[in-house]
Amino acid sequence: MAEYDYDLFVIGAGSGGVRGARLAAELGAKVGIAEEYRIGGTCVIRGCVPKKLLVYGSRYGGEIEDARGYGWTCEGVRFAWPTLIHNVRREIDRLNGVYTRTLENAGVDKFLTHATLEDPHSVRLADRDTPISAKYILVATGSHPVMPKVPGAQHLISSNECFHLEALPESIVIIGAGYIGMEFASIFAGLGVAVTVLYRGNQVLRDFDMDLRDGVAEALRDRGVDLRMATNVASIEKEEGCYRVKLKEGGSVAAALVMAATGRAPNTAGLGLQQAGVELGWNGHVVVDEYSKSSVDSIYAVGDVTDRKNLTPVAIREANAFVETVFQGKPAAMDYTFIPTAVFTEPELGTVGYSEEQARERCARIDIYKSSFKPMRATLSGRNEKVLMKLVIDAETDKVLGCHMLGPDAAEIVQMAAVALKLGVTKAQLDSTMALHPSIAEELVTMRHRWEPPVPIKGSDAAA
Ligand code: FAD
Repeated sequence: MAEYDYDLFVIGAGSGGVRGARLAAELGAKVGIAEEYRIGGTCVIRGCVPKKLLVYGSRYGGEIEDARGYGWTCEGVRFAWPTLIHNVRREIDRLNGVYTRTLENAGVDKFLTHATLEDPHSVRLADRDTPISAKYILVATGSHPVMPKVPGAQHLISSNECFHLEALPESIVIIGAGYIGMEFASIFAGLGVAVTVLYRGNQVLRDFDMDLRDGVAEALRDRGVDLRMATNVASIEKEEGCYRVKLKEGGSVAAALVMAATGRAPNTAGLGLQQAGVELGWNGHVVVDEYSKSSVDSIYAVGDVTDRKNLTPVAIREANAFVETVFQGKPAAMDYTFIPTAVFTEPELGTVGYSEEQARERCARIDIYKSSFKPMRATLSGRNEKVLMKLVIDAETDKVLGCHMLGPDAAEIVQMAAVALKLGVTKAQLDSTMALHPSIAEELVTMRHRWEPPVPIKGSDAAA
């Protein structure tokens, strides 16, 4: 008789969990997986995928306007939120089915219930009395939205509820200006909702390159989003037909809906991890080594629950590495350099590598190349649109350390640039690459002039 019920038991069937379970099962391991909500996890059910579909939906209004300059007559155009959200949900259901079948076809046993750890080798499922034993346990429970601790927080929705709205609000206040807050601000603005963003910091999108941050803020303001920086929420109160957000600085904003986009935290509370001897970090994340192993030899963790780089492709890659390490005997450490990422605002932002600020901290000398221009498409459409492209170069090695873009298709362009950066491309090699004309991306291989910071004029002062 086998020593354990399973070779591997996975808690959480999201991006990391599904990948880990499937790969291990395909290698012949006996695998079980528990999921308490819906198979597919955040990315598929209430993250990347439905969000990007809403992004697409929100862009048509602007594109229809653009079309007029190209000779199209677009009278009688209307938008119906129920159609969009219904179609998004239908697609989520389809993907939920795809992920479920993926697990079934690989021979993984599914348990649609809440799971907790009992000890280093056993898991308790909420819907059965006896625990399940496993040689290895993979914790892939993801993260959840953190709501601000202010009076009236019970009135707030998070990104989760945005996918369940039966009607579009006329106005919304979004608290927080990270990538989720900015993306939803852009989505709602594109669909005609009056959007106010409240953020306690000085500029949106902390940790991104400052030029991109400024560019996104300017573009959203141009589209009518009321971005209020250095603004702190004191309370949220329900009034007749709306919510009133009171500000610590004085004054208030009223809106039909208030959304918090104030960060996410790992799903570890009540999971029994500490009882099993697993060390947790400052915000409850599972502390793991480069192979995703926790402080307990039989327990590994991947994805958002480890709070390393909280992105879907990273969770998937961590799960691949876990399976290679544990089930193929090939220790595979993760490499977190040059991870490309995007913020799907309108215009969108794509970025890979060091921001100018990070590079200045780490390198003796850097060169900056940047270019800001009106894309050709905007000449006839008349849209007030600007593309920003920026390269951060290590002046000593000529290596490209960062590539940043704000503009149409930035995510697609930066994904390809990431390949070159990962391979250690130099600025000279970019320059030797032939341009593809006319395109926006050609700018990346034709930026010839180093950007010099403006020199302050001697003797002048700020008031002059
Ligand atoms: P998840 O996919 O969250 O899966 C965890 C699963 O575990 C969940 O299904 C949960 O129900 C289940 N679970 C938790 N506890 C238990 C338990 N005790 N028992 C049983 N099951 C349990 N990333 C990108 O790369 N690109 C994007 O554009 C992007 N957009 C995003 C937009 C939004 C609005 C959000 C919220 C996230 C976005 N992300 C994006 C991040 C991405 O979704 C996550 O990084 C990714 O889903 C993490 O995968 P995971 O496997 O760690 O966890």
